Parts: sequence; structure tokens; C-alpha cells
Amino acid sequence: MTTLKRVDVHVEGIVQGVGFRPFVYSLANRLGLAGRVRNDVNGVHIEVEGAHAGVEEFLTALERDAPALSEIERVTVVSAEPAGHSGFTIATSDPSGPLRALVSADTATCDDCLSELADPAGRRHRYPFINCTNCGPRFTIVRGVPYDRLRTTMAGYRMCDDCAREYHDPGDRRFHAQPTCCPACGPRLRLRDARGVDLCGDPVSCAVTLLRAGRVVAVKGLGGYHLAVTASDERAVATLRGRKHREEKPFAVMAADLAQARRLCEIDDAAAALLTSRARPIVLLPRRRDTPDASAARVAPSVAPGSHNLGLMLPYTPLHHLLLAELAEPIVLTSGNVSDEPIAYEDADALTRLGGVADAFLLHDRAIHTRTDDSVVKPASGEVTVLRRARGYAPEPLALRRPAPRPVLGCGAELKSTFCLLHGRRAFVSHHLGDLENYDTLRAFAASIEHYCGLFGIRPELIAHDLHPDYLSTRHALEQTGVEHVGVQHHHAHIASCLADNGDPGPVIGVAFDGLGHGPDGTLWGGEFLRADLTGYQRLGHLAQVPMPGGTAAIRQPWRMTAAYLRDERPSLDVARRNAERWPAVLQLAATGLNSPLTSSAGRLFDAVSALLGIRDTITYEGQAAIELEQRADTSETGVYTATITTSGTTGAASGASVDGPLVVEGGDLVRAAADDLAAGVDPAVIAGRFHNGVAAAISRSCVALRQATGLTAVALSGGVFQNALLLERTVQRLRAAGFRVLKHVRVPPNDGGISLGQAAVAAARDRGQEATPA
Ligand SMILES: [Zn+2]
Ligand SMILES: [Zn+2]
Repeated sequence: MTTLKRVDVHVEGIVQGVGFRPFVYSLANRLGLAGRVRNDVNGVHIEVEGAHAGVEEFLTALERDAPALSEIERVTVVSAEPAGHSGFTIATSDPSGPLRALVSADTATCDDCLSELADPAGRRHRYPFINCTNCGPRFTIVRGVPYDRLRTTMAGYRMCDDCAREYHDPGDRRFHAQPTCCPACGPRLRLRDARGVDLCGDPVSCAVTLLRAGRVVAVKGLGGYHLAVTASDERAVATLRGRKHREEKPFAVMAADLAQARRLCEIDDAAAALLTSRARPIVLLPRRRDTPDASAARVAPSVAPGSHNLGLMLPYTPLHHLLLAELAEPIVLTSGNVSDEPIAYEDADALTRLGGVADAFLLHDRAIHTRTDDSVVKPASGEVTVLRRARGYAPEPLALRRPAPRPVLGCGAELKSTFCLLHGRRAFVSHHLGDLENYDTLRAFAASIEHYCGLFGIRPELIAHDLHPDYLSTRHALEQTGVEHVGVQHHHAHIASCLADNGDPGPVIGVAFDGLGHGPDGTLWGGEFLRADLTGYQRLGHLAQVPMPGGTAAIRQPWRMTAAYLRDERPSLDVARRNAERWPAVLQLAATGLNSPLTSSAGRLFDAVSALLGIRDTITYEGQAAIELEQRADTSETGVYTATITTSGTTGAASGASVDGPLVVEGGDLVRAAADDLAAGVDPAVIAGRFHNGVAAAISRSCVALRQATGLTAVALSGGVFQNALLLERTVQRLRAAGFRVLKHVRVPPNDGGISLGQAAVAAARDRGQEATPA
């Protein structure tokens, strides 16, 4: 005789919208168990009873065989009296109580759905909204939790009988797939001209015809509108650039499949895995050099002018698959906006704002609730640097090493804005929102914070922000009342972000190299060596300060930084000749210090060398001079420029508690060495290589000196400058060779997109510190 056993099981993690309840249902049925499963505000709740062995097997299989998209964080099992359930049912959701269930990210169309899409006999043949429990829209269509059709933008679509049958059939791939639909009951595709008039015929085929004719087609995607042109059509690409007011920043390209992608770029196994991952990010990859003619024929010069890399992605919606399959060649697929505005995602707004850019609109009536850009990643020596974390990744939380005592909001910086909500051990870093200088982005920033707070049931009690008083994120933070405010220095936040990203408490030697950040001494920081943990930091060293002649003008015109670094020593330089009209005046500005704030920025050092070598005198997008300098560098070059490192006062403080005076790295030595080589006729590619090696060597030597002074043996690398894969690789090599443990970013970007996580982690750590102090 078998004894009856019942357990109540609670599963937390990403378990809603990923087929978890259907999975539990089939599992219980297979094992002959009774009970019920339902979503609740914390995840999934299961009551299950039956034979002892069956229940045991159920608990084992629950974690072992969980659906591919689920991510179980915790399973709690409580024994209970058998209730005499008969059969196993899926009960309705319980929307009461505090909300904590997790919403999964949007997921690329799965192989099963792709086969169905291509099957002429199937009822979803060529249906552009096909999806199932394993794929499709999630975060972008969710309005609230628990995750159910009624709380998504699919709420208005009543399932037809066929779809309803699948939805209720535990054996079906679409069992409880909330966005499921078909041509009979779901959203429809339309093609409209720029005036909003419907064009007849099959929308996909017509769009392909337009693309072949060199037209710009706006395509509604998962998180917003894109603008598409045929990637090989120079005239079309140039037209798109002109209309979009985007001068040189590279466009992303979508290829139909890996085979097509391989014709454009060098793709190793790691890159292929990224391209085909369920997140389907844009992957920055080296363009093929072996067949330059063939490659040039496939991608027009204006797609990524002056760039050795190409941002590539593969189709992630059924609509992309249909479009690319029919066109049979790659397309440019760039964000649907003009200039630096946020990407358009509402139909009426898209038709208005993109009316002057697109010749036609391929759109549909499934609304996008949350605007989400494509994510961007860059493979670097077998690992990945995330440059923009958005669609496919957000809003899935990052696990933290230690829980936050109270909920925290980190408001981030200004450019590449994100915010971060901490709750317990979870960090919800928002999707990339853009630059907060833009009013629309600022509105989206405030609205998204509300949305995340609602979705995850978080009410922040602490708000962390940058020290820059004029950042709109800082102002937003300070406007919030009834909360505690925590100011976090920009570069401390970078290093804290790297620590949180790696689950490391510190202390470390933090190397924060970026463009600019507000220093507490009133100067602009950006080439910093910090002793840092999550609660605090001390500035141990920095790049030697130089004036930025003309202030922000020096950011847009890197040649001014060359002048600032070289002073008037080299009147014969090409860069001086190219900018002869203003060169003397700029030298004068730098010498007098008038409108020339001092900075220790590493970004400006890269700018100076880029202009010196004639790569970039002026820029049209952020980071352009440094990006092109990296691409120009001869990676086989082993020569190294040497920077003087002044370490006066840093000896003897072995405890790590104090360092008497900051270490100073003379970046100017590197610029002068580059100028010497240039004058001697050395190839700029070689000079760029020696410069990168020189910066890496200066970092490594500085860290060795600081290790002696502080006893710290771990180094954390953060800041936008470490988006530079060559610099990152060379720096890590040297630091490891010198015996350091090196932390770099894994899940969040090294750039300002990671700042919010660092701010929140600092606020939580300080909160823990207070908690630990006896009152
Ligand atoms: Zn699917
Ligand atoms: Zn249907």
C-alpha cells in the first residue's frame, strides 16, 4: 500500500511567461499526481499530492527539466496534509499582494515556430506574429503582472477556437502561451506609404520590392521602429543617412542567417553563439578582409564609413525572417529616429516623426508597451563586453552577492542612461534609455522607473545619484521626496558597478578610465586610480591634468586636445597645419586656462593621439576618435611608449589605509612619443599600436606601485574607455602577468550604462554598514 504525500512548492525566479505552469501540468500528469499550479505575485505556487515516490520524482524533475527560458532562483517545499485533490489543474492567477514575479526578456523566434512559418500546409504559414511558450514578445508587451494575456498589449485580441484549443491543450507547444495568435484572430501586417495610405498586395513582398528599388522602409519591430534599406545599395544608404541626419556613426546590418553573415564578417564560434542566442543582440564583428571586393559589393561604403567593424544581427521576429528570406540579401536596420531622438515605437508618432525619412511603413496593430532598443555586444578574446544592454536582456535581474537591506533606486548618469532598482539580492538594471539631454528620453526615464517599480513591486527607500548637479538624473533623484538621497562619485560608481557585476566586495585598485565625470575637487576626472570597495573610495592616482581648451568644444574637436598636450612645441605638425587658423588661439586658451577646465580624462588622451595621427580632428558622434584610433592600430605591434609615473609620497603605506599623495601618470609623454614617431615617418597604424601598449603598460605599472603602497592585489577595470577591446586585452594581459586578479565587466556595460548599478550597490552597502552599527 502506498502512502499519500502532499507538498506545497513555491518557485521563484523567471518562471512566468516561459511555459512553467504547462511544464508543471504535464509533469504532474505524467507522474499521476493530483493538485494544482498557479502564478502568484512571487512566482509559481504548486500543490501536488500522490504516491511518495511520484512526489519525490516530481521535485527532482521540477528543477532538472525546467523550461529553457525559465531561471529558477529558489524552490521552497513545505509538507502538508493531502487535500484529496483529483486530477491536476492550472488555476487562475492571484494578482493580490506585493508583486515580485519576474518578467522575462523578449526572445527570438524559436526553431519550431520557424518551421511552422515556412510550412505551406500549416495555418500559420507566413504569419508574421507566430510565437509560442518558448519564444516571442514578452517585456515589450507587458503592462503589468502577473504575466497573463490580459495584462499585455495582446489583451484586445480574442483567441479563435483553434488558438484557444492549443492554448488549453497541455500537450501543445502553445499551452498557456499568452501572446499566441494566428491569421484568423491576431494582429495584421500592413504596408503604408509616407502619407499613411495603405498599399495593396502582400505587405512583405511589396516591402521587398521597395527595398530593391532603393527605398527606405520603416519596419515595426519588437521594441520600436527601425529604418531599413538594402545594405548593398550605396545610394539608398546615403539617402537614409541624409534624411536621418546621421553623418558617420555606423549603421547596424541584419543578415538572413549565419551563412549570409559569414560573407560579411569574421565569425568564430563565440560570435556565432552570440548572433544566434535568444537575445539576438547586435554583435560588433571585424569585417572580412580576405575578400574585400566581394564584401564591399555586399555592404555599401556609407553603412559604416571608416570602420573595420560591422554591427551585425540576425532576424529575431517572424517578420524579419520573412523579409530577409524574400529579399535574399542583408539590410541596414537602424533605429527609427532622427538624429539623437529616442526610437519611435507608437504608430502615430512613428508616422509623424519618420514621415520625412521613410518612403513606406511596414507596421502592424500589436502595440509596443515599452520602447526598447537593440542590445549591442562586442566579443573580446573569448569573452564578451556588453556595450548596450536592452532588448533580449532587460528586464531580467542580475543576482547580487549580498542583499540590500532596503529597496534602492540608482538614477545613473546622463549619457547612455539606465536606472537600477535593487531589491533583496536582485538588481534590475533597466534597458538602455538613451541620452537624458533629450526631453523625450527624460520623460521615458521617469515613466520607465514607474513601470519597473510596478512590475517588480518595488518602492525605493534610498535614491542614489551622481554628484554632477546638472545631470538631469541627479535632478530627478533630488526631486523625489520621502526617501534618503545618496550621492555617489561618478568613477566610484564605475568601479562599484564592476564589483557588483562580478559579485566581489572589494577592496580593489579601481582603474576608472572614461570621458569625463564630476570630481569632488571641482575638476573633471576620467583617468582615475581608486582604492575602492562598495562603501567608499580614495583617489590613489590619476592621469596628469591637462586643460580642455574651449571646454566642451574640445570634446567635439579632438585636435584641441592635441594642442593642449603638445603646447607649441611642434609647429610643423600636420595637425597644426590642418587647423592652422585656430591653432594659435587654442594654444593661447590652454596656456592662460581661460575657458579651459582641467581634466585627467583618459578619453581626451585617446582623442589627442587620434587627431595627432590625422585619424579624427573633429567628431560626429561620441567616442568616434578613440574608436577609429583603436581600429587603426596594428595589433601585431609590440613596441611600447613609456609614460613617466610620479609616485612621490606613495611609499610605505602598506596597510592600504592611506596613501600620502596621489600617483600621477604623464599621459603627455605618450602623445610626445607618438609625435616623435610620426615626425620620423612611422606608420600611424604602428604608432596607434604602440600608444595602446603604452597606456596598458602605464596602467599596469601604476597598479604595481599602488599594490606596494596599499597591499591590494585585485584590479577592477571600468569606464567607457574599456569598451576598447585592444586596450582591455593588453591591460588584462599585463596585469595578470604582474600577478593581479583582474575584474572586468561581464553583464553590464563598462560605459555609463553601468553607472546606475554601481550607484545602487554603493547605497545598499552603506545602508548595510549603518544597519551593522549598533545604535
Ligand atoms: Zn516558438
Ligand atoms: Zn487564432
